[in-house]
Amino acid sequence: MQIPKNVWEQLIRHFRCELPREGVGVLTGTPAGVHYLKLQNTAQNEAHFRVSPQEWVSLLHALEEGNERLLAIVHSHPSTPAEPSSEDLEGFSYPDAYMLIVSLQHPHAPEAGLYKKTGQRIERCPFEII
Ligand SMILES: [Zn+2]
Repeated sequence: MQIPKNVWEQLIRHFRCELPREGVGVLTGTPAGVHYLKLQNTAQNEAHFRVSPQEWVSLLHALEEGNERLLAIVHSHPSTPAEPSSEDLEGFSYPDAYMLIVSLQHPHAPEAGLYKKTGQRIERCPFEII
């Protein structure tokens, strides 16, 4: 997967604004390119993220109407590595999308990991920022 540099910068800005909480958003795709959309993290706890079912449903409707594909669900780890937490492994269940985790533990050098979950298996996938 390829992430345009301006989209990467957009999501880093968003996640920095959300600190110390986790931030959440999605990467969507059209033939014209990749876009980032912010979502609202409704989790009470700093170390988790949750999207309200209403916001999720309206997102899926909007994507369908705009002929956009859901490419990845993106969330940040404010102070831990870009690796799935046990909650990420259990809670992530959108089969067609990637999970992109962005770590801000080194504030000036954000890192990311891209994952795909198939059944109970999760594998790390390559991506590049272009
Ligand atoms: Zn996580």
